[in-house]
Amino acid sequence: MAGLLFALWLTGCSKSPAPPTEPIPAAREAAAPAAAVATAEPSDLDTPVNELLAAVCEHEIPTYSCDECRYEVGVAKAGEEMFDPALGGTLATMRAGSRPLGGGKDATAEVRLNEEKAVYVSPLAPGVVRAIRVDLGARVRAGQVLFEVESSEYRQAKADLLRADAAMTLAEATVARERELFEKRVCPRKDVIEAEAALGQASAERTAVVGRLLAFGLGRQEIDALRAEGSPSQSGLMPVRAPFAGTVLERSLSLGAQAQPGDKLLLLADTTKVWVMTTVYEREVAAVLQAQQRGVVSATVTVSAYPELTFKGLVEQVGGTLAEATRTALVRVVVDNPDNLLRAGMFARVQLLTPVGAGGLALPEEAVLEDEGRSFVFVRAQGPFFVRRPVTVGRTLDGWVEVGGIAAGAEVVTRGAFLLKSDVLRSKMGAGCAD
Ligand SMILES: [Zn+2]
Repeated sequence: MAGLLFALWLTGCSKSPAPPTEPIPAAREAAAPAAAVATAEPSDLDTPVNELLAAVCEHEIPTYSCDECRYEVGVAKAGEEMFDPALGGTLATMRAGSRPLGGGKDATAEVRLNEEKAVYVSPLAPGVVRAIRVDLGARVRAGQVLFEVESSEYRQAKADLLRADAAMTLAEATVARERELFEKRVCPRKDVIEAEAALGQASAERTAVVGRLLAFGLGRQEIDALRAEGSPSQSGLMPVRAPFAGTVLERSLSLGAQAQPGDKLLLLADTTKVWVMTTVYEREVAAVLQAQQRGVVSATVTVSAYPELTFKGLVEQVGGTLAEATRTALVRVVVDNPDNLLRAGMFARVQLLTPVGAGGLALPEEAVLEDEGRSFVFVRAQGPFFVRRPVTVGRTLDGWVEVGGIAAGAEVVTRGAFLLKSDVLRSKMGAGCAD
């Protein structure tokens, strides 16, 4: 550790001349104590992660967790906020073990709504718009009232419900009375049978009315509430509710306007996930399908609106047919969009990443850093702590470089890795100069 410290002191400290390429001769000229320890202490790059994490600093806490000392074990700290674009974070990680499809070239794509969670909302019976309860852009919860229409069909159904309930009550009482009279031998059995038939009919009619109300979008509880109201209110104000939680993206409602079932009055969409539709060439379709059988095919998505951000997605579907003119298949990438940065209609660029087995790891070039003439990456050790790990570097292609020395599945810092490097180095230099 002190050796590293010393070498960096030489390379980074302003008191030092040009950085030495060979640390050993430089060490002889330098202050003796640091040089003496230098030969004894291996670099953090050569120390197993569990040993680095077990080290305890002069403050008697684990070195990696000490804000003053963690650089000694090559550890950098980066909380989740540094990975969250909404909070100004500029870092990103990826799991080692994916390789870009198609030689790393981006494909063009378009952001679309998640069509499984996007719907034009309209009333289930014709009526006049009487109240609008949500603004454009509003986030609504499932079941929230979006607007209300005055509907004569709805008013009729409400009245029919109360009438059907009354008829039911009467028919039940009649059956009870006829049974009693029959037992007292006052009335014939025929009267009981007739009363029971009338009860059956009343029950069927009530079921039909409840069915109509359910078809207007009411829940069982609301139907019970209508009953509790008792006297039929003359209001035919029918609430139109959100079928799921989402955001109001379009609204073409005006008070007093006629509204019909099927009208595109209000577009509600759940934008927490969006679809990014891209294409792959015929020759790549098989590769994507095979990769899907091995594991998840991930994707990185960029849009020109946020050139500094990379969004991560998963390939959900590969089109079953090829477009004749272009010989391409449509691919749907699902991207988490919790901050609603991605908007339907945006043009995007997509890079598909297919999982590969051990030995074939590739990382974006920006993930691989150099220090002391050695290549390394920052790998998540635990929580917000990232540790430098040495890698061997192979060929480079289209911004991706083949690496060895880390396990498939390791979480590696890609974008912004240089920030963690300079953080570690700055601390080391600071410590070196202060001595
Ligand atoms: Zn400490």
